[in-house]
Amino acid sequence: MTSGANCSVTLDDSDELRSFRERFLIPKSADGNEVIYFAGNSLGLQPKTVRSYIEQELLDWEQHAVEGHTKAKNPWMPYHEFLTPQTAMIAGALEEEVVNMNTLTANLHFMFVSFYRPDNIRKKILIEHKSFPSDYYAVESQIRFHGYDPKDCIIEANPREGEDIIRTEDIEKIIDERGEEIALIWLGGVNYYTGQAFEFERITKAAHAKGITVGFDLAHAAGNLKLELHNWNVDFAAWCNYKYLNGGPGAIGGCFVHQRHLRDSSIPKFVGWWGHDKQSRFLMEHKFIPIPTAESWQVSNPPVFQLASLKASLDIFAEAGMQKLRDKSEGLTGYLEYLIESIHSDTIEIITPKNPEQRGCQLSLRIKNNGKSLFNELTKRNVICDWREPDVIRVAPVPLYNTFDDVWKFSEILKDILNS
Ligand SMILES: *Cc1c(COP(=O)(O)O)cnc(C)c1O
Repeated sequence: MTSGANCSVTLDDSDELRSFRERFLIPKSADGNEVIYFAGNSLGLQPKTVRSYIEQELLDWEQHAVEGHTKAKNPWMPYHEFLTPQTAMIAGALEEEVVNMNTLTANLHFMFVSFYRPDNIRKKILIEHKSFPSDYYAVESQIRFHGYDPKDCIIEANPREGEDIIRTEDIEKIIDERGEEIALIWLGGVNYYTGQAFEFERITKAAHAKGITVGFDLAHAAGNLKLELHNWNVDFAAWCNYKYLNGGPGAIGGCFVHQRHLRDSSIPKFVGWWGHDKQSRFLMEHKFIPIPTAESWQVSNPPVFQLASLKASLDIFAEAGMQKLRDKSEGLTGYLEYLIESIHSDTIEIITPKNPEQRGCQLSLRIKNNGKSLFNELTKRNVICDWREPDVIRVAPVPLYNTFDDVWKFSEILKDILNS
């Protein structure tokens, strides 16, 4: 690749996933052109099929009303099961290990009820520096709920002085030195700010050797990384489905519980009737019999319209396949990195790891001066990305609907703004 040359046409031509872009509605700017949408890490685009998936349920509601639970084309009673195979594929899990329910932070609390059980010896939670605020609040409130003080119970894994990325060896060192005090490790699978992907398997292994439970927040990892939660032995995970997974604003969330915990009746749970054995649920007796899968964490009967819009997107993911998406993603993000580096600007520093194994599709660009005005200028030129205080622009080319041409155009606009 010669520096500055436009290779995007060739790259798009040889992209076997390129037709998937046509399945999505790409927003247009006032001038009628499609925007460059690099915000799929915040809210994924709408699949064109969402409308018909939801209309089917509206029609069944109209025609069958309450009988839709059994007579709808896709009966509502087991509707969430129609998403299980695709969800297991996204998580790298067994089907019995996953369920879609509630929303992310709510699921985090439900999972913590089961997997954060502190006592006076082992009560601490290890989280990452710059964890997402909602996760931090939830962690603090869980600690308080158990009667402890967050000041004594939160251990933050930090990057070294002058670095942005948290080294795995430093996490291992904390586990090694303070493992006996730690009840739970809760990390963002991909940190929302830096774009760093943590080494799931290595961290989980080190933690388990010290008797620590490990959970991951996959908000920025699900539909982005090629996950292998079952094989990596992760204890539990939760994620939202509206970012890379395109389930729509406020979409229903996803959960993973490792197989080895599914039939363990010693694990406490906050339960409801949708976690009760399916055969006897409607006998309405007062003896809770848990479904022997992750479904036993379901509390309520789930929102079918939400499941329908998510299913529209998950069906597309299943067709494309996570491995192929990941392969394309490494190419797209690598191309973006290459083009930004060939601008040779002192203003921009990419803080996301260079190693593709330590990142997903997002690159976080630290802008050395006046970053907000650079961001505003990008917006004016129809680039949709996002700004994170104090100085970071996050750009996420996603493999389902972004093109190498998007990346090329973005880099040309960026160069133009920096040179003006
Ligand atoms: C997006 C995101 C959330 C959002 O939580 P909701 O409960 O879905 O509003 C939480 N944690 C992380 C790490 C996120 O990236």
